[in-house]
Amino acid sequence: MRAVELIKPFTCEVRDVATPVATSGVVVVNVQRVGLCGTDVEFFRGEMPYLLDGHAKFPMRLGHEWTGTVSKIGEGVDPRWLGQRVTGDTMLGCGTCRRCRSGHQHVCENRKEVGVRGNFPGALGEELSVPATSLHALPENVDAALGALVEPGANAFRAVEGAALKVDERLLIAGPGTIGLLAGLIARSRGIEVHLAGITSSSIDFAASLGFAGVWHLEDLPALEWDAVIDATSDATLPSTALDLVEPGGRVVYIGISAEKSEIDSRSLTLKDVTAVGILSGSTALDETIALFASGRVDPRPLIAATVGFGDVASVLAGERPSHAGPGPKIHVDPQI
Ligand SMILES: [Zn+2]
Ligand SMILES: [Zn+2]
Repeated sequence: MRAVELIKPFTCEVRDVATPVATSGVVVVNVQRVGLCGTDVEFFRGEMPYLLDGHAKFPMRLGHEWTGTVSKIGEGVDPRWLGQRVTGDTMLGCGTCRRCRSGHQHVCENRKEVGVRGNFPGALGEELSVPATSLHALPENVDAALGALVEPGANAFRAVEGAALKVDERLLIAGPGTIGLLAGLIARSRGIEVHLAGITSSSIDFAASLGFAGVWHLEDLPALEWDAVIDATSDATLPSTALDLVEPGGRVVYIGISAEKSEIDSRSLTLKDVTAVGILSGSTALDETIALFASGRVDPRPLIAATVGFGDVASVLAGERPSHAGPGPKIHVDPQI
């Protein structure tokens, strides 16, 4: 089959590789759509922390936001999965340790992550093999594009849950990238007053086009009370700024990760009686996100700027925008293009 292999930093090649096999407990999926995200860009640039601590090494196959159809099943897999349209959990815990048994497999010490960690091949191939236990069925009205937005959507869903706001309370989201925008759409569907803040005029303009209550430049925020602040940026100063901005008694949610160490002053946290929440992965919210997309109450498809073929992955990861791209932050890949 054809697959995109990341050979070394800045070098991606479309190659013919061995077709995955459905071993015991495993299914093979025909991949229909794959989302590219910031994590993939970090790998492409050779900057992803897992490359430094040994959890990942080149060559690797990226792709952890995907939709496909189950084409083969291994021994012991429920035959009802055959032909089912699915997406899957990126996080593959060992299944036996204390964290896995208590529902925290996404932070299992020995986990693999599809297309990310433990050299588990990702979805940037015509076919993908994953454990049947990681599958999540997609209803008919969640199309290929929506299905590939479930993984980032579930991350955003958990960030909104972390903010724990009620109807008409006010949320500030720093960082109008895919996660920030998804969190904004999800929070708005709950009746929360959503504001976004960014730096670049193109991302601010795009966020404004989605009709949020307010979209601001980070340096030019209005003097409003923020009941919760979500940091969806990769700026090392934002965690501390979020804590400064949030109302006493409120919540800060940290989902962005900066390349350098970022710090907060725990005295502010205490003296303002603020709750801080960290979010890694959408694992525990995948089904709720699928249901939300299926309900039509949140439609994130305007975030997709373009859908390209395998041959364009390298240039997209290098930061080029396809010539036909719309203004959204997300690029999708279709193996059939
Ligand atoms: Zn991602
Ligand atoms: Zn485990």
